[in-house]
Amino acid sequence: MLYLGDVDAFRAIETSDELLTIHAGVTHTDAWAALEKHYPQLQSYAQRFASPPVRNSGTFVGNVANGSPIGDAMPLLLALDARVVLQCGDDQRVLALDAFYLAYRKTALASGEFVRAVQIPLLRRWHVAAYKLSKRFDQDISACALGVALRLDAQGKIEVARLGVGGMAGIPSRAPNTEALLNGRTWNAETVANAAQALLTEFTPLSDMRASAHYRAQALANLLVRDFHLARGETLDLAQTRQLAPLGAQS
Ligand SMILES: Cc1cc2nc3c(=O)[nH]c(=O)nc-3n(C[C@H](O)[C@H](O)[C@H](O)COP(=O)(O)OP(=O)(O)OC[C@H]3O[C@@H](n4cnc5c(N)ncnc54)[C@H](O)[C@@H]3O)c2cc1C
Repeated sequence: MLYLGDVDAFRAIETSDELLTIHAGVTHTDAWAALEKHYPQLQSYAQRFASPPVRNSGTFVGNVANGSPIGDAMPLLLALDARVVLQCGDDQRVLALDAFYLAYRKTALASGEFVRAVQIPLLRRWHVAAYKLSKRFDQDISACALGVALRLDAQGKIEVARLGVGGMAGIPSRAPNTEALLNGRTWNAETVANAAQALLTEFTPLSDMRASAHYRAQALANLLVRDFHLARGETLDLAQTRQLAPLGAQS
């Protein structure tokens, strides 16, 4: 067992033009504050993470390394196309976060390796957002979570779409089928409705005490619709989310 908390170098947060690098000993409090400097819209998502004692003692990288399918950092980090720096002795390798999670609680960490840092792209001029659904505002684990990163051209066409989801499978993951319905299309209500319809069935989540499988699927799809309307400064009428065909109507 290794305690990383007293290694000064591990408490570093580095910023370059394109990357925010958060090392293994950085607490959630400090990591989310650094993220919010670049992505101020993440403030309410960050506030929902655990509670002050956990945010001040737990590490951001520990959340990523732990690999829980309901960890809150990963939906956002997958959407941002983050990478993990894996270290063994003096050797380091960099892996896309998307390739890090192999199966429930199984990661690509080799024997002797630990996660030294997370590298987070600073996507200027992208639409970036993250949403968490849980029964309480904070101090609660997610029923599901959605991270969204969209690169748009001047005409509003989606050049690149990345979605990170939590709570929907055994690992935190991207939503490639839904992303395919966003890529190359104009970001409008019709595109988002089609993508949300795909998101509704892209995963087969579990039912547990946090949420039913049905709730998770429907709520995640609704988050994508909500994201579109919030980005346009619109408040969301519930009727707009009900336009999705209910899950029962799919089979
Ligand atoms: C009361 C409470 C509320 C919580 N609420 C939330 C929440 O709302 N959202 C959420 O996402 N999480 C939540 N968590 C989970 C928790 O905050 C994180 O998973 C945590 O940040 C990791 O904590 P840690 O740094 O102490 O890692 P540890 O608990 O020490 O480690 C967790 C696991 O990851 C491994 N690990 C840690 N760091 C590394 C590393 N650098 N390299 C390789 N392996 C590593 C450890 O070996 C261990 O297996 C909550 C936890 C508690 C206790």
